[in-house]
Amino acid sequence: MAEQPSIPERQVDVLVVGAGPAGLGVAARLAGLGVAPLVLDREPVPGGLPAQCEHPGFGLWAFRRLMPGQEFAARLVERAVRAGVRLETDVTVLEVTPDRTALAVSPSGIVRYRAQALVLATGCRERPRSARLIPGPRPAGVFNTGVVQRLHTFLGLLPGREVVIVGSDDISLVAARTLAQAGCRIAAVVEERPYRQGYLVNEWWSLRSQRIPLRLGHRVLRILGDGRVAGVEVALCDATGTPLANPYEIPCDTVIFSGEFVPEATLVAQAGIPADPRTGGGPLVDQEFQTELAGIFACGNLVHAADPADYALVDGERAALGVWRYLTSPPSGGELVQPVLPGQQVRAVVPQRLRWSGERLDPVRLAVRVEPALRAVRLRAIVAGQPWGWSLAPAAKPHRSVYLWLRPARPGDAPIVVEARGWPIV
Ligand SMILES: Cc1cc2nc3c(=O)[nH]c(=O)nc-3n(C[C@H](O)[C@H](O)[C@H](O)COP(=O)(O)OP(=O)(O)OC[C@H]3O[C@@H](n4cnc5c(N)ncnc54)[C@H](O)[C@@H]3O)c2cc1C
Repeated sequence: MAEQPSIPERQVDVLVVGAGPAGLGVAARLAGLGVAPLVLDREPVPGGLPAQCEHPGFGLWAFRRLMPGQEFAARLVERAVRAGVRLETDVTVLEVTPDRTALAVSPSGIVRYRAQALVLATGCRERPRSARLIPGPRPAGVFNTGVVQRLHTFLGLLPGREVVIVGSDDISLVAARTLAQAGCRIAAVVEERPYRQGYLVNEWWSLRSQRIPLRLGHRVLRILGDGRVAGVEVALCDATGTPLANPYEIPCDTVIFSGEFVPEATLVAQAGIPADPRTGGGPLVDQEFQTELAGIFACGNLVHAADPADYALVDGERAALGVWRYLTSPPSGGELVQPVLPGQQVRAVVPQRLRWSGERLDPVRLAVRVEPALRAVRLRAIVAGQPWGWSLAPAAKPHRSVYLWLRPARPGDAPIVVEARGWPIV
């Protein structure tokens, strides 16, 4: 019997999977601390999602001005490489194991990496049509925003001529504007909730300036067409999806399902890293983005999908400190773990636990998802009846995090409960 060729192995100090803002943030910061990480990305161009975004809206925190996603991505890459980060593209990680190995494939073959610390920064993906259970035939012309963006940015192609976009978060609104400016007619943006998910300013900038209609409270009941999309059947519906009025057709040749992001957590599930169903399957992490498996970290949109790029970058930089601490003083095993739990009108909180190894912790930024959507929001973190932090927000919607700075008072294991109060948006 022919002998199986053995898989070549490489030892690295820190392996980062994903060269988006989170992964590049971890890597650049670690390089600054004297550790030389290796970053792998399956795409030919590093920079993550911003590398395929031509619109402005990135970089306010990191570079103090708004810039197009592609420029933001290029700057992050340049900064990381200048700091000494090794970056390899066209490399897909197929599998990771709890003892911090990663099996990766690239055009030059398969390699198994053995790392002292592993960081997962694989971002998120949109829920496709199949997961949204939309009936009707399966004609060509149905896309997700991510695919449309790639077609447009990298190949200069448009998905069709007459487009219906399903979803109204900021990413959907920006996609509508980009396509309208590129020559598509946007027949409608359809949103099943009774309110717009994105910011009002974005509705004005992206939709109203282009005279694109926004149909709130509407559901797509069927996709029509033989071979190619010919239209969608929509109706004004209540919260359960029951039509409140007669369905009608919007003719179009393209339907784009946008938003509804879920963590790109395939590696997490396959390695058996404990995950949080409330975030859609992102791993459970502590305040330094360490998962429940020692030496494996996760950050960015993988832990809260999909928040702005600056937040992913900040997460990455914070995770770098955790990785550095892990490498320089590995955990003794005697740490106290304090759960962070969602309370009233809160669906999810990240991080999901604090890990105490001493008497004090720096303030921790909690990313909070409310349910339902609220206006005039007050967030509070309570431990055994005592407040540990609060914040205010004009509005909070389930698909986007609002933030709360937690000031941990003393070590303990009593749960930290985060609750939200406000007026439901209907
Ligand atoms: C259409 C659109 C518009 C947006 N507009 C804005 C905006 O205006 N402003 C803003 O701040 N944010 C915007 N965002 C959000 C922003 O892009 C994200 O918050 C940010 O990119 C998240 O960074 P990340 O590093 O967590 O993930 P990503 O940027 O998604 O990076 C993840 C990386 O991991 C790689 N990867 C995944 N799995 C593997 C694997 N198995 N092996 C190897 N590599 C892997 C991917 O190729 C990718 O490069 C937008 C997003 C979209 C989709």
